[in-house]
Amino acid sequence: MRISVIGGGYVGLVSSVCLAELGHSVNLIEIDDGKVAYINSGRPTIFEEGLEEMLAKHINCNLKASSDFNSVLVSDITFICVGTPSSSNGSADLSMIKSASISIGYALRGSEKYHVIATKSTVPPGTTQDVVMPLVLKESCLKKQNIGFVMNPEFLREGRAIHDFMRPDRIVIGSDDRKAGDLVETAYSGLNAPIVRTGLTAAEMVKYASNAFLATKISFSNEIGNICKKLSIDVYEVMNGVGLDHRINPHFLNAGVGFGGSCFPKDVSALIHLAECLREDPILLRSVMKINDLQPKRLVDLLEKRIGSLRGKRVAVLGLAFKDNTDDIRDSRSINVILDLIKRGVHIAAYDPKANDSMHSIIPDIDYCHSAAEALNAADACLVMTEWPQFNSLDKEFDLMKSRVIIEGRRILSCNYSEGICW
Ligand code: NAD
Repeated sequence: MRISVIGGGYVGLVSSVCLAELGHSVNLIEIDDGKVAYINSGRPTIFEEGLEEMLAKHINCNLKASSDFNSVLVSDITFICVGTPSSSNGSADLSMIKSASISIGYALRGSEKYHVIATKSTVPPGTTQDVVMPLVLKESCLKKQNIGFVMNPEFLREGRAIHDFMRPDRIVIGSDDRKAGDLVETAYSGLNAPIVRTGLTAAEMVKYASNAFLATKISFSNEIGNICKKLSIDVYEVMNGVGLDHRINPHFLNAGVGFGGSCFPKDVSALIHLAECLREDPILLRSVMKINDLQPKRLVDLLEKRIGSLRGKRVAVLGLAFKDNTDDIRDSRSINVILDLIKRGVHIAAYDPKANDSMHSIIPDIDYCHSAAEALNAADACLVMTEWPQFNSLDKEFDLMKSRVIIEGRRILSCNYSEGICW
């Protein structure tokens, strides 16, 4: 099958190499020429385990990147994978979806062949039908029967993206026209996963509801953790006992400094905004966000309790990425904590195995270190912000600190002299 993928970010690039791995001929269309050049030279623009090897295998064979939309005309399916960030009022900013739809429509002008456009970006219910469809039809001057529209939400996790794409829990295909959904289903025929067929808007809602539920599990665990902390109970023992109930399951019950990343905060905010527009009061979702917003503040308050006034102190911050195995810092909890510490006059020595450069681009005025040991040297305290597996074995490095005050926002250390934000 010939496939075009619009947007070469985390979802678009991973989807492109995985679709190429499934045997399709893939054209990745990315507006940023710099990224195009990188990708065509076999260098991924993001860090994701296994991506470089898979990109090297397929690039210039059955995968090519370009900033030109012409390849859409000869494709069977075009997947839209552009960003849908938060607007200032919390709603999803659909400007990239709109401009991609216009470009796709323009490229399809004069086409005589049936073509399917599948939205993979996370979009509010109604977007594919009310935004993508009319823009594509208007620009292409084609009739609805020549183009199929599908919502095919993506559930991959950064850090495990290739694994998740190739071994998904389920593939959700929403369409209002059987033929379009069937064609997208065929694109995944090499994968062994249950296929869930829904209407267009239901598929859009599946993605929001999934992310909102996972975010709720995290905030729930954090609230239980905050209570446990006061009672000197280890919340990880508690959640282990809770998670073994098959109705609950053990995932996303790790208490800590809260969720970040490019999806949960923006998607829960967008769902809250959507509910408000519908005059529904999203009581639960608002609480989920409130608990999440308070966790970084709790961490800094705990630090102050342990070392007194923060002014002039040196604090090692281990972990900048929003989670392990990625260089992505979007909405990382480290950002809130670092900015708060800077305001309070703290000297920060930061270290992340992959995300130093990304963080430097938004917070340039702190020390970036080449190793955890360098960050810990002469520190008054240490905050562990990302669950990088390599932090697990840190031990004698803590001897370099001025005083061994170690607070974990994510539970990863194996040494027994650290304290957790809620344990
Ligand atoms: P991203 O910001 O990493 O990538 C988007 C890319 O699209 C950028 O490289 C940008 O330059 C490019 N782009 C923007 N407008 C374009 C246009 N008109 N034509 C061509 N390229 C264009 O975003 P992402 O993290 O890959 O997320 C993409 C979508 O997928 C979002 O809606 C997100 O919510 C959703 N999603 C993300 C994840 C994740 O883990 N990152 C997981 C599931 C779903």
